[in-house]
Amino acid sequence: MDYNYLAELLFPDVTETPEDMEKRFPKRELPEGAVVSRMAPSPTGFVHLGNLMQGLTSERLAHQSGGIMYLRVEDTDAKREVKGATETLIEMLSHYGIFFDEGAALDENGKIYDKGIYGPYKQSRRAAIYHVYAKKLVKEGKAYPCFCTEEELTAMREQQEANKETTGYYGKYAIWRDRPLEDVQAALAAGKPWVLRFRSTGDGERQFKFDDLVKGKLTVTENNVDHVLLKSDGIPTYHFAHAVDDHLMRTTHVVRGDEWLPSLPFHIQLFQALGFKLPKYVHIGPLMKMDGSSKRKLSKRKDPELALTYYKAEGFPIPSVREYIMTVLNSNFEDWRRANPDADIESFKFSPKKLNPAGSLFDYAKLVDVSKNVISRMGAEDVYTQLLEWAKEFDTDFAAKLEAD
Ligand code: GLU
Repeated sequence: MDYNYLAELLFPDVTETPEDMEKRFPKRELPEGAVVSRMAPSPTGFVHLGNLMQGLTSERLAHQSGGIMYLRVEDTDAKREVKGATETLIEMLSHYGIFFDEGAALDENGKIYDKGIYGPYKQSRRAAIYHVYAKKLVKEGKAYPCFCTEEELTAMREQQEANKETTGYYGKYAIWRDRPLEDVQAALAAGKPWVLRFRSTGDGERQFKFDDLVKGKLTVTENNVDHVLLKSDGIPTYHFAHAVDDHLMRTTHVVRGDEWLPSLPFHIQLFQALGFKLPKYVHIGPLMKMDGSSKRKLSKRKDPELALTYYKAEGFPIPSVREYIMTVLNSNFEDWRRANPDADIESFKFSPKKLNPAGSLFDYAKLVDVSKNVISRMGAEDVYTQLLEWAKEFDTDFAAKLEAD
């Protein structure tokens, strides 16, 4: 197969090269050891405690090392997008003292703009960049077009299930993997929609070791599935987009939820195939609560305390929530606080290694206790001002009484 020819056939309009991208997004000039971290939420509109935990982890790693934290909006799944979600996220996080040095930002009129030279920071505006790398992979024989229809894929999955085999597009099921050029040309000429797939060289029977900053040494199985990189509308999947972005935005640490851990073998492969240096990974476990005698994940549907708006309505001062999250994130934080009751939270040395790899337990009584300590260190005037502000929004009767006397 002439891969160069195939690449031109699939991406005739892509004239820029990975070298051009390297020039456009130069390496950052930061001191040795400075962390570049990010938050890369999908704009779904719901800001929760998990976002705050992730944000605080990212923020501490970046800022305590003299690095940078940026905000990237992962809006490649238009179905999940909620209008105004990015604005809400920025506002909520800044309310809790988490500020981004760079990325999607709000101007004084509340409009989103790109702050920094590594943008656009919205994935939907980076299609041309992803296509440069898609073309490169095709040229190198590391990606190929697949013209399978939904029906074909469903039939394939059903057959795999019936055979009690792992489902997915791999091995003999990867029917477009080694198709002759004539078939591809004919399908293109017939105007059939196609997706771009990764040509995996992994072996589902082989394992390798990987070091995660929270989870420690992990043994993971190689990926042998030819996952989709570009959907039929040319929009990338999360996997492909995040690899390109994290590289070009010069990210050193990827802090994200551990629901991404199963995709990690594929991500590592992808970084290697693209010729990118692998960032360090910080996979945060879920927030859980006790339900009777067993633990379960906090859920959006069942647990109002997952939403950040809840803490404001309940009247917890901002530093209380931050302080509480820190006790959840780092097991030695409380000892430090006892020894340094008046120190700025920022002078605590945060370590991802102190996160509980299995996830953390949300404990309301503990939050109240931490908050009590925080409030006890506040001045009377401050307590009054904050109480009044809260009451004006959530208990107007009480606000009137406070103001009268
Ligand atoms: N868009 C992904 C999410 O919201 C981001 C994961 C990541 O931080 O890489 O889960």
